[in-house]
Amino acid sequence: MRLSRYFLPTLKDNPAEAQIASHRLMLRAGLVRQEAAGIYAWLPLGLRVLQRIERIVREELDRAGAIELLMPTLQLADLWRESGRYDAYGPEMLRIRDRHERELLYGPTNEEMVTAIVRAGVNSWRELPRNLYQIQWKFRDEQRPRFGVMRGREFLMKDGYSFDLDEAGARRSYQRMFVAYLRTFARLGVKAIPMRAETGPIGGDLSHEFIVLADTGESEVYCDRAVLDLAVPAADVDYGGDLEPVVRAWTSPYAATSDVHDPARYEAEVPEPRRLHTRGIEVGQVFYFGTKYSQPMRAQVAMPDGSARLLHGGSYGIGVSRLVGAIIEACHDDAGIAWPEPVAPFDVGVVDAKAGDAQTAAVCAQLVARLEAHGVDVLWDDTDARVGAKFANMDLIGLPWQLIVGPRGLAAGTVELKHRASGERFELAPDHAVARLADARPGRMTA
Ligand code: ATP
Ligand code: MG
Repeated sequence: MRLSRYFLPTLKDNPAEAQIASHRLMLRAGLVRQEAAGIYAWLPLGLRVLQRIERIVREELDRAGAIELLMPTLQLADLWRESGRYDAYGPEMLRIRDRHERELLYGPTNEEMVTAIVRAGVNSWRELPRNLYQIQWKFRDEQRPRFGVMRGREFLMKDGYSFDLDEAGARRSYQRMFVAYLRTFARLGVKAIPMRAETGPIGGDLSHEFIVLADTGESEVYCDRAVLDLAVPAADVDYGGDLEPVVRAWTSPYAATSDVHDPARYEAEVPEPRRLHTRGIEVGQVFYFGTKYSQPMRAQVAMPDGSARLLHGGSYGIGVSRLVGAIIEACHDDAGIAWPEPVAPFDVGVVDAKAGDAQTAAVCAQLVARLEAHGVDVLWDDTDARVGAKFANMDLIGLPWQLIVGPRGLAAGTVELKHRASGERFELAPDHAVARLADARPGRMTA
């Protein structure tokens, strides 16, 4: 992609309304634009990040046996009356009337709708367990939308729902999602720690929030530093096998949000030097809630003996749009964003260091073509901006690698490769630079 033909409206100055780094950098790097309080347009560069996150989320959920569907954003109020939540939900729910005076709402979550879908489509114990998920926009009329996409009103969530015959099965479904979350967040390049959590308005008795530690996070957390060193299960983890040991290993060290923090247990279990009392960003949550929805909604299946059995459910959320902010909180410096490779909007930024020079332009064009042939995503700054401005812009938008093509290097037969996160620079022959970037590329596929 040539920058001269792209749409990347970056800002020179820090927007006054942004209080935290990720919000500031998202506005400055042209990832989003605020359209109303807590409502954002995703500009092309931001959309690419969102899509890369979505892709990893899908790959890991599919691997764990979950099945994607897509439900509408608008739902009938009557559906929510079946569970009793229409009145219970409060002012966070955006309520709408259509031209026939029918009451609708913009979904803040989808337990009712997915329960109705499964109620209609699953009849027998043979069809369970099932785990259905979607990646869809949600609306919650938050009292204090803030920190950009971190606490939006309209936001993108992966929401998944499991259905089992009994509690034992539901716990296995919960464990599969727990492990899938460990893998998903690790692949996204963030360390998200599962912490015991309150079940909140969704209800239930078993829940963990996945928290990325950050001073600017809205959650107050207490944990044992031992949890920071645990290994994430590999890609070949057996989702059909017993995941209890993995979940036990990850839930044994003390880790709790302030809502459920137990100071006596914390002090008894965690030696002083390992105590970590800090803040974090909730990027996901897993719940087991039993028959909370299936009971009022009569979602049941026929058992072998002909009796009817209520479904046991769990729900599993990931804040896809919030993750963009959370990743930036964890991955930035004074100059701008430094994307982890798996979620970067482009893999490489090619900088033509001498605008108007026929030779540098020709070499850039060749390099871009060769990189793209290897499947590397390239943003080529072919504009006639000053070279200093180009460098500052590349650092701001934070692509993992910069490939700088200048006349002095070319005279010596080299181009310069800069690693954004570490600042390391390498003088390489153009062939070597291409090989190196092409090699780095498959890292995104597995990790
Ligand atoms: P919070 O406690 O931050 O308000 P929640 O616990 O109400 O979030 P869940 O119902 O667990 O949210 O939703 C699943 C995920 O969606 C959360 O873990 C979070 O990552 C994300 N999320 C929730 N609310 C918002 C929001 N207003 N803006 C962006 N992402 C959000
Ligand atoms: Mg939550």
